[in-house]
Amino acid sequence: MAQLDRRLSENVTGEFYVDDSCIDCDACRAIAPATFRDHGGQSSVYRQPRNPSELRLALMALVTCPTASIGTLSRHSAREGVQAFPDRIVDDVYFCGFTSANSYGGWSYLIVRPKERGGNVLVDSPRFNSLLVKRIEQMGGVNLMFLSHRDDIADHAQFAAHFHCPRVMHSGDGAAHLGIEQVISGEKEVRIDDQLVIVPTPGHTRGHQVLLYRDEVLFTGDHLAWSPERDTLTTFRDVCWYSWADQTRSMEKLLNYRFEWVLPGHGRIGHAEAAAMHEHLDRCVAGMKSRDPQMLRHE
Ligand code: SF4
Repeated sequence: MAQLDRRLSENVTGEFYVDDSCIDCDACRAIAPATFRDHGGQSSVYRQPRNPSELRLALMALVTCPTASIGTLSRHSAREGVQAFPDRIVDDVYFCGFTSANSYGGWSYLIVRPKERGGNVLVDSPRFNSLLVKRIEQMGGVNLMFLSHRDDIADHAQFAAHFHCPRVMHSGDGAAHLGIEQVISGEKEVRIDDQLVIVPTPGHTRGHQVLLYRDEVLFTGDHLAWSPERDTLTTFRDVCWYSWADQTRSMEKLLNYRFEWVLPGHGRIGHAEAAAMHEHLDRCVAGMKSRDPQMLRHE
């Protein structure tokens, strides 16, 4: 819970504030850009919500914050923020909110599908919050957990136990030691069904993998994200823990796939027509190969 006596001085006066426990994960700025800003290394409130829509988004940011760094002066019900999640992004794909400090605020997603199509898929792990769990139950539960890599798995074990669902993860990220039920190895794509394809993408970590849904939505973990500043796809060399050469090679491999949406664990969501997205990816690969200095930044 945010503490008023630790309120950052960069906040404007008013109801919402951020305290000094902020880890600069970017979630509040992505969700409620009309309220939160980056003042350099942390977030703060630069303008108080001005209408019901901005208030709702500020409350969604409050419940999503992994470190509970966002607070309100008066006792303010966060119900509206809680009930907003899972929040639809496109068709049957939802953002779960409720990020975890254990994943440094990494984003997780829920694909909602009928049982006869294989059921729901939880992509990486949100915080195990009882209110979120109840909402996911109402939406059909979880039939499979896809874990992109070791950094964004948060409360995966609790979700797997609660929903009695298998998890799928790559051996390169220690899946066997985590008791993962379905372990992927090697670098060949693995087709789960006619809608879901796992593509191993070593680089950020040794066992990183992405998930392609319906040739439309690519869940990219920490491999690839959208840069709103550059208005194109980007990747982050300064948080490449395993091999930049492998990450570049893995990125090039994605040119063989069609997708319109990029849904990352860290970084911003991107959307473009498939042909345009392919061009963005092509440019991203070229930048990685040419050691583009923009790629060195974590935006
Ligand atoms: S969501 Fe929380 S931790 Fe992340 S940037 Fe905002 S205040 Fe900081």
